[in-house]
Amino acid sequence: MRVLSLGAGVQSTTLALMAAVGEIEPPDCAVFADTGAEPQHVYRHLDWLETVLPYPLHRVQARWGNLGDAVLAGLERDKRPAMPPFHTRDPDGMLPRQCSKEAKVRPITAKVRQMLGVAPGARVPTSVSVEMWLGISTDEAHRMKPSESPWIRHRWPLIDAEMSRRRCLAWLERHGYPIPGKSACVWCPYHSDEMWRQMKANQPEDFAVAVAFDAAIRDGSKAMKGTLFVHRSRLPLDQADLSTWAERGQGDLFGEECEGMCGT
Ligand code: SF4
Repeated sequence: MRVLSLGAGVQSTTLALMAAVGEIEPPDCAVFADTGAEPQHVYRHLDWLETVLPYPLHRVQARWGNLGDAVLAGLERDKRPAMPPFHTRDPDGMLPRQCSKEAKVRPITAKVRQMLGVAPGARVPTSVSVEMWLGISTDEAHRMKPSESPWIRHRWPLIDAEMSRRRCLAWLERHGYPIPGKSACVWCPYHSDEMWRQMKANQPEDFAVAVAFDAAIRDGSKAMKGTLFVHRSRLPLDQADLSTWAERGQGDLFGEECEGMCGT
């Protein structure tokens, strides 16, 4: 079985469409893990992709549903099942990232197991091997990682095709396809200031969601020292100076898409 792990940004969209037009052999399906916190343009883009892909596109979610709701409920109950890498003050630092594995990798793996007919908790037979395609381009090669599941083998077709992000953009334009915006949770602590600025200017509804979420996480949980922030300045998002960090060369900690290996 060949499965495309679809982050829905530039790279994995290019990969999905290259397979759709026959430039590479198509996968059996694409799977998008929905945190429930993506910007509206990502959901519109997925709706469009579904109409043009000649193979199924499955949308999956963690068993606890929306990541933002799960995070707030976890803080309330002193549990941290899928915590994003929030910035902390007193002590200053950053929480370890659990979210992408729990909200992206696990739901996709669970979907593949279901498609293989393997019951939850049962061992995947050693005869089974799944090829998982990841939309990582040559300029993001440092994000290539082997799978943690012995029965899943990662493959990076854009690397094989020597496709950089720039070449992906050129390919999309050449074929007359729309250029997808960046996919990531609207309040992802990995955003650069450029990303925050663009969101504030062009997606005010998403920015308002991020501001409200940032305020809601502030006090962390009783079991946790310090206060939490989505912006690296450790100021409330609506008070943070979004013009400074990028100019100091503090770029995005994030790759182009969050498919479970973002920020690494
Ligand atoms: S986009 Fe950011 S917050 Fe969302 S799952 Fe990925 S790393 Fe976590």
